This record gives sequence, C-alpha cells and structure tokens, in this order.
Amino acid sequence: MSNTPNKSAKPSNIITPAKIDWQMDDTGNSVPVSGHFGDVYFSHADGLAESRHVFLTHNQLPERLADLAPTQCFTIAELGFGTGLNLLATWQLWQQLRDTNPHLRDARLHFITTEKFPIPLTDLTHILTLWSQRAPELTAPIKSLLAEYPPLIAGCHRLNFSDDNLTVDMWFGDASESLSKLALEHVNQPAPHVDAWFLDGFAPSCNETLWSRDIFAQVQRLSHPKTTAATYSSAGTVKRILPEYGFEIKKVRGFGMKRQMLTAVMTGAENRDISNGHEKHDEKTNENPEARSSTVDHTIVIGAGVSGLLTAWSLASRGITVTLLDKSAPLAGASGNPRALLAPKMTPIHHVDEHLHTIGYLYSSRLYRAFNQEAAQLNMPPVLEITGALDLLIKANIGTEQIAEYPDEMATTLSDTQAKSSSGLLEQDLSENLYLPQSGLVNPQALKAIILSHPLIHFQPLDVDSIDETDQHVCVKGRHQNQDVVSMTADNVVICVAFESHQLDTRIFDCRKIRGQLSWFTPTIEQRANLPKIPLKYSGYCAPFIAQANDETINTVTADKPYLLLGASFIRNDTSMDVRAEEHQISREKLMVAIPEMASVIPTDTSSWQGRAGIRTQTPDYHPIVGQLVDSKRLWVMSAMGAKGYALAPICAEALADMMLGSFSPLSEAMLARLSPNRTRLQTPLT
Ligand code: SAM
Repeated sequence: MSNTPNKSAKPSNIITPAKIDWQMDDTGNSVPVSGHFGDVYFSHADGLAESRHVFLTHNQLPERLADLAPTQCFTIAELGFGTGLNLLATWQLWQQLRDTNPHLRDARLHFITTEKFPIPLTDLTHILTLWSQRAPELTAPIKSLLAEYPPLIAGCHRLNFSDDNLTVDMWFGDASESLSKLALEHVNQPAPHVDAWFLDGFAPSCNETLWSRDIFAQVQRLSHPKTTAATYSSAGTVKRILPEYGFEIKKVRGFGMKRQMLTAVMTGAENRDISNGHEKHDEKTNENPEARSSTVDHTIVIGAGVSGLLTAWSLASRGITVTLLDKSAPLAGASGNPRALLAPKMTPIHHVDEHLHTIGYLYSSRLYRAFNQEAAQLNMPPVLEITGALDLLIKANIGTEQIAEYPDEMATTLSDTQAKSSSGLLEQDLSENLYLPQSGLVNPQALKAIILSHPLIHFQPLDVDSIDETDQHVCVKGRHQNQDVVSMTADNVVICVAFESHQLDTRIFDCRKIRGQLSWFTPTIEQRANLPKIPLKYSGYCAPFIAQANDETINTVTADKPYLLLGASFIRNDTSMDVRAEEHQISREKLMVAIPEMASVIPTDTSSWQGRAGIRTQTPDYHPIVGQLVDSKRLWVMSAMGAKGYALAPICAEALADMMLGSFSPLSEAMLARLSPNRTRLQTPLT
C-alpha cells in the first residue's frame, strides 16, 4: 500500500485505507496518528473534551438539538470521519437529550460524514476500545458503530441506528466529490440542507484538500442561512476562505492550551425556501417545538410486496403513519417466495460507488442483520440467515482478478479445496468462483412480520380502483374483499404494485413482465448428504433451507422440515401464476448443466415438488422506478425491481422517503436521475 496517497495512481474511487501510527498523548494514553499525513486524529490533550468543545458546543448542538420539533430532522455534515470520535460524542449527546426530552421521541439526527482514507476495522476497533475504557459513556455507541462499520469501498454507506433515530451516511472517497453528489433539488419538495458543519480536516499545513475552494463551494451549496460551522483551526487560510463562501466568522477560545478556534454562521447562502413540506430546522419550528406540519403525517402505500413493505418501514421510521394496502395480502405476489437469495450482481470495483446492486446489497444486509436482533428479542425467526454464497461465475460480469480488488470480507475467491469444503460439491473444478461471506437467505415471511409489527404501519386489504390528487391531499378509493366501497385520504400516496402500477396511474411506465417460477422439495436423508450445503449461483441458483414457524402462511412448507430451493424460470410476457411441471424441469436442468454431479442426487421425477410463480417487473434499462410522478406533488412510485427486490428495495425506500421528506439521499444525484419515473428511457413505450 502506498504511503503517499496523494500521488497514488489509483482511480479516485478505489479506496486507500488509512495507515495508523501510534504515539503517547500528554497523559500517557496511546493515540493514533495518520501515517500518511503525520497529523493527529484528535487532540493529544483530551480528544473527546476537544471534540465536545469545538464541534458540539460551538455549533450550539445541546441547545439546537433539544429545541427540535417532533419529527424534525437535524443534519450535521463532517469533513473527515477519521476515528469517528466526533460522531460518537454527538451520538452520546443525542441519546442524553432524547432520554430527558420526551418531545424528541420522533425527531431525527442525520449525520453525513466523508472520509477519503477510512481506517480499517481492526485499527478502528483498537482505537475505539481504548476510548471505551477512557469514556465508558461511549461504550454503547462504539459497539453499535463497530458492528455496522462498512467494508472499505467507495460510495455512500448508510447506517441506520433505529433505536436512537440516528442515520449516518458515510461517504468513502474524496470529500469534495462526495459532497458534489448530494442532491438538493427534489421537484416540488423541500430542499434538504446541512444545519451544522464539523470542519475537521488535518491542519491545512499537512493536508490542504479539506480546506480548498472546491470544498467550500460545496459547503456553501449545501447550507442555508443560519447553518453553522466550527473548526479547531484558526489558520489564516481558514479565516480567509470561510467568509469568501458566505460565512461570517467569529474567533473564540480554543480547547485547552489553544488560544483560538473559529465558529461561523452562513449569511451568504442562497435564500432557499426551507419551510414547506416536512418540518425543517427554521426559526418558526424552533420557537414552538410542538408545531407540526400536517402535510406529511400520513402516507398510503399501495402494494404490500417487498417494495411496499420497505417503503412503509422507511416512512414509519421517520415518524410517518402509514396505511399499507394490498388487494389480497402482504407478500401475495412475486415477493412471497419461501426464501430469497441475497447476493449482488457485482461490478468492477472502480464503478462500485455508483452501482445500485452493490450499494443495495450492503445496505440491505446491514438492515436485515439489525432486524435479526429485533426478531431475536421478539422470539421470531431471523430475517436473514447468513450462510455465505458461492457464485460459480457462469453468468457474472466480473472475473477473479476483479474480485481480488474487493475487501475480502465482502467478496473473495476461495481455493478449489475451500470451495469444495464450503459447498459440499465433490467433483468439478471450483477454482473460478466468487464467494460472498455476508450473503445469505432472506426469509420474506419473517421480514413481513417484523415490518408489520411497527406501531405506525397499519395493513388493510383493499383493491384500489382510483387515486385522486388535490392540492390538499390524495383520495384513494377501492373495494374490500366483501365488495364494500371504501375511500380514504392521505398526504401522500406511494404506488408499489409492480407490473400493475401502470394500471393505477398511466404516468408510470408499462414495464416488461417476466414470469418466474421457483421450485422446492424435501430431500431424503441420503439426498441431503450430497446436496449443496450453501446457496449456489450459476445460470440459476439453488439453496438448502429449513422452514421456520409461520412460513406456511405464505407457502406450502412445513416448519422445521428441510428443503432444497431451485430457481428460476424466466418467461416473458406471461402473467399467469400457475405452477408448471415444465418449469420445475427448467430449474432442475440449469442445476444439472452447471453441476453435473447433481444428476445422481436430484430426482428427475418432480411430481412431489412445490412451486410458486410470480411476475417480475422490469424496465428497458433494468433500473427500478423510484420517485415522484410528473406533474404531481403527492404521488410517488417505487417499482420495477426485477428479480432483485430484496437487495434493492431497502435502499430505494430510504431514497424515496428522503425525497418525500426533504432529507439528503444516500443515492447520488446521478443515480436518482437514473431511477426517476420520468427519465428519457421511459418515454418510449415497449413495443
Ligand atoms: N473527525 C475525525 C475524528 O473524529 O476522529 C478526525 C478527522 S482527522 C483530523 C481528518 C480526516 O480527514 C482524516 O481521517 C483524513 O483521512 C481525512 N481526509 C483527508 N483528506 C481528505 C479528503 N480529501 N476527503 C475526505 N477525507 C479526507
């Protein structure tokens, strides 16, 4: 690894991890120093006390956070995540304030941070374990942060700490590039803005990049009048550049022996309208913390497949009441398979920061692991069974050389021997493979149960006939199963009914419909001994699983019985849902071609097999459809996940909820444009 990252020839979106050196601080504690820049991550006097003094006190966070209105979101952005000490200090303050201020129950903190040279997990664990001994009040946030710390790949990693209403977006890559990707304009919606900046680059004399004009142009773009900033530095360059980009600066006493530091207030941001829609941090709402905008209190989500469930969850986590409707039942459509394999379509690493599949995979596996903890507390089956998965690279767009560029904890290639031992396969050469250690099987029924247990999500069966939008609200009319006509109103409606979305609103692209059938059977004890031990991907996929309690509510399986799942057929323009013997054979055949030794294990007679057919919805460019409908203020869509709903829906739901409520999205502006319901590619109907 290069010691001089600035001169590295790597493409800018391939991450160089930080190199940590150790020194003794003033009180004999061992503290990290950047091996690249030769500067300290935090003060050698008392890093935590300095962080609180400079960034928390001098952005007036104790007062401003305590003054938030219910459901208000406060956004902090940081230049230089480093060891995460500033985040941890802020998090602990936020926990304290929420414990003592009941009105903050549904308020949110959004912490956006940037880091070009992220610290590897082993070093970070060492650094933060020392902090946890010095400052036990940080122990709980440290544990949560380390559990969620992402692999060191470029792009935005969203970490949601739901118990604390805290969202952390970690943008790995150059800060000015990352900030330039944050989208401001969501048509007809309030624009997001940063409320407080932590300017925490190394000293300008060691590293100028975080004090450059490019950076401050972005800082100004993302600020609004009254945005504050704080920095420990009072260097001449900093004093000069802040006013150039609209900040009024003030010199105040620095921490410890430091005579001066700077605080600043934005006075020169464009006077953007920040008051419409969901509550934002403005004077009015602060004067009256009880004030609450009524425009986004209640949303109707139509369609209770994976897109609808995750949309409901993202909105409910932001304090929005959600009525979730479906003409039959949750997971009655294509999302209701017994298990879904969570394994991304990979891309060469230099595209990874703009690759929805990778971002979606990493986010969903984090979210599902968090759901697992909730499920364990409620004595429910896990949402994600982490098994690891082996891709035989038969239909992949990446080879072993490109896989080697990924961090091993995310993707690696096993030796032939290791691959045989993990998979249980005996005969063929497995040396060309992609092994995904964090991959596994999603249990849709378990996911549904966790999401529907959210107190703000209310499911109702309703076959929706019409949606009428006015300036004040949206009215949805439909029929109950007993044919009673029902109408209800809400502030927003999100249409998540996959291939039927176009029927509900013709502005939504009429997508390609692809029937897919999954098959499963119970193997004998002898067969089981010879079947794959973990999920395998080839031109299809197979996975062993054991049915869990309540799985039978959506599929013909029996709890505690073992199964082998095989997928899947792809039949274009066929929307019937009958289970077909010939499609069992299609999935069997895919497995035989990829792994011939299975021919002697898997019966040719499939008459006892079970199956389920669903209709996949796909756009011509293969991207989902996520966003606001054209000429509408209150109608939204999330659809066209193809066969990847369990990997894509969670991050798309976050992006959608952020657009609806005027928060910063974890997806770049360019990516949001690629998902837009109004993109050019969707202007021409399919022939
Ligand atoms: N806030 C940190 C903490 O709480 O530990 C300390 C930040 S440290 C003083 C500065 C950080 O900025 C380092 O982690 C460094 O890798 C990062 N950095 C340097 N140049 C950068 C750039 N161009 N873009 C993003 N991060 C950068």
